[in-house]
Amino acid sequence: MMILALCACTSMQPSSASFQAMDTLMSLKVYGGNTNLCDTLKSRIQTLDGLLDATDEKSEIARLNAEKSAAVSEDTDALLQRSLTLCEQLGDSFDITVCPAVRAWGFTTGDYRIPSKDERKALADRIDYRRVKADHGTYTLSAQTELDLGAVAKGYAADISADLLRDGGAQAAVLNLGGTIALYGKKPDGSRFSVGIADPENPAAYFGTLDCDACVVATSGGYERYFERDGKRYIHILDPKTAAPVENGVRSVTIVTDDGTRADALSTALFVMGLDKATDYYRAHRDFDLILLTENDELYLTEGIFDDFSLSDGYDYIVHRLG
Ligand code: AMP
Ligand code: MG
Repeated sequence: MMILALCACTSMQPSSASFQAMDTLMSLKVYGGNTNLCDTLKSRIQTLDGLLDATDEKSEIARLNAEKSAAVSEDTDALLQRSLTLCEQLGDSFDITVCPAVRAWGFTTGDYRIPSKDERKALADRIDYRRVKADHGTYTLSAQTELDLGAVAKGYAADISADLLRDGGAQAAVLNLGGTIALYGKKPDGSRFSVGIADPENPAAYFGTLDCDACVVATSGGYERYFERDGKRYIHILDPKTAAPVENGVRSVTIVTDDGTRADALSTALFVMGLDKATDYYRAHRDFDLILLTENDELYLTEGIFDDFSLSDGYDYIVHRLG
């Protein structure tokens, strides 16, 4: 009896880890399963980061960008295949070849600048995922093309982590991968997960909380990386058509669905689309949920999560239900 009680008790205590990866602070909490699961997840995510980070010259993506043709590992291949399919599905709002534009605006180094109109035109001409060719794990890029997987890497890390948690027999996990939150399994006390959605004006605070079961909650917002010039804000989410930061009245987009890679791609893409097109996209698919906050403090929630969301005290956003 004593022993049973003890076991129940220890299984309630999650193991945890916090570390820097993919340009953000990640924190993992894992309930149950093999003893070293947290460390396994951490090292797998760090390895992934080492493969995918376009700004790390030793990464596979950097090598592909420099040499224009390379055989890649299984993980990089899997993510590139998925990303290219997502580019096709998401039209002109999402493109993993935004790399030259991201760099030109200074988002990779922090040496921010505003490219001229002509330079932006030239950069936009360089963005086109159709210039990436795949052949059994070997990828070839056209001369002017470079990859940036920043919009999907954390979502892919969420998917890989879910596989590891399953293999390791975990009961539940809460993985905060920096803007992308993966909720796995069922919490030991039977309660649902509760996720805070960051306030873009004060990202340490939450404008609301979402109660949910296992899923991925991916948020894209200008507040994650931006610079200001002459009172104007330039954010790290770019419109592939113009190679310039998006300015469309959207402040943040959160996607809720099971597939982490898709959630991450959709959060970026629907941000670029803006309210009307994002709403149309939702209505055409309806296989994910959406929380969209505009600069006018209007909050749009899809019907699948409407009743699971509560606004924090002190936020007087106008809330709309998308059906
Ligand atoms: P996220 O935080 O998931 O919205 O991803 C934003 C990151 O993805 C940026 O820092 C860029 O590296 C990259 N990115 C920016 N705009 C786009 C876009 N329209 N399509 C694909 N990737 C993008
Ligand atoms: Mg994303």
